[in-house]
Amino acid sequence: MSVTRRTATNVLLDTALKNFYGAAEEMGLSENLIAILSSSERRLEVSVPVEMDDGSIRVFKGYRVQHSSAIGPAKGGIRFHPDVDVDECEALAMLMTWKCSLAGIPYGGAKGGIACDPLTMSAKEKERMSRAFAARIAPIIGTWQDVPAPDVNTGGQEMVWFMDTISKLRGHVEPGVFTGKPISYWGSKGRTAATGYGVATCGLELLRALGKEPKAATVAVQGFGNVGSYTASTMVEAGAKVLAISDVTGTYYSPKGIDIKKAFEHISSHPKKLLEGFTCDGCEKKGLSDVLFAECDILFPCALEGAINDKTVGEVKAKYIVEGANGPVTPEGDAILDKKGVLVVPDFLANSGGVIGSYFEWAQNLSGYFWTEEEYNSRLMHIMKGNFKLVWDYAQSRKVKMRRAAFMAAIQRVADVERLRGVFL
Ligand code: GLU
Repeated sequence: MSVTRRTATNVLLDTALKNFYGAAEEMGLSENLIAILSSSERRLEVSVPVEMDDGSIRVFKGYRVQHSSAIGPAKGGIRFHPDVDVDECEALAMLMTWKCSLAGIPYGGAKGGIACDPLTMSAKEKERMSRAFAARIAPIIGTWQDVPAPDVNTGGQEMVWFMDTISKLRGHVEPGVFTGKPISYWGSKGRTAATGYGVATCGLELLRALGKEPKAATVAVQGFGNVGSYTASTMVEAGAKVLAISDVTGTYYSPKGIDIKKAFEHISSHPKKLLEGFTCDGCEKKGLSDVLFAECDILFPCALEGAINDKTVGEVKAKYIVEGANGPVTPEGDAILDKKGVLVVPDFLANSGGVIGSYFEWAQNLSGYFWTEEEYNSRLMHIMKGNFKLVWDYAQSRKVKMRRAAFMAAIQRVADVERLRGVFL
């Protein structure tokens, strides 16, 4: 039976579909399962009216896409960014399904967002927008239904506004409906650093698998938000030298190694949490993309999707890439990296520490019993190391790239559950 293949004009969605089809066909997955898993269960679009500080009303577009709930409640972040659209959310929702499956946690995949520019909005405007959005998506989210979390430009504060709104609507506290909450309000110790900690753990496991010492390693980290900053600090703690960091204000490069502690202090006192004006011993300010071209062992792209593409890939000098962001390497970029012999640790393995940490928080919320930070970190480290090994071994034994191996292992688990459950929703 020949089944048509979906394509999309949105590059990220088209890539997500191609990656899925490629792995599914190589696995010999049935056409029925290919048809089920290449479609999303739900694509919701909402209008979000917000009263701005000047009294005017603006209506923002918001989305929540649930790709799969085969294994458990759909799971994935909510981002605030001008480029958010429904196809991008669907691509990222699919990625969440594979991420949760590969991580071995009991969730499906979802993603949402609001097309807005949060950097130009006041805290009050963001609060009104967050609460209106939560109310709009309330019918399809819940502890056992769909559990959103932070993503680009959202964090603990937004999760509190979301959760508080849902709790008020339902008439009872519902902590398990969002993860990534602050520690003081049903959050978990360890969650803030979890994604970056996991990304760095993959970098360190990669060095170990290759027989290399972290102390001799040099790295560059694109993005100094939640993911990049903790990736950089964890690599430094392991002994590596961070040659370059960056954010929307540019690249900060020092051959002596960036003082990451100082960079943390700098962003915490900057009104927009940016590196603007940062300096340290030997530090030189460079252009936005220069971080990608640093001569180093590992490059960690931890900003937005598509950073390493046909235009930038030619100048990449790193030996290895560990993807902290979702989709930072385009398929064209990937093909050229492959030719250059650059090994890539794929996003949904490398950055799964965030959602694994979310699972820990959710489990604590369900039981009403909180863990210590040590418990949290040691469980996270254990799972990340195990998952890295699983994908590494899979790739070695089947002689495929790590991305393909990760897709195959992840799709397998979802397909097994789909088969067990049958097609009745
Ligand atoms: N936004 C993060 C991700 O892309 C975390 C998602 C979650 O914890 O649900 O993995």
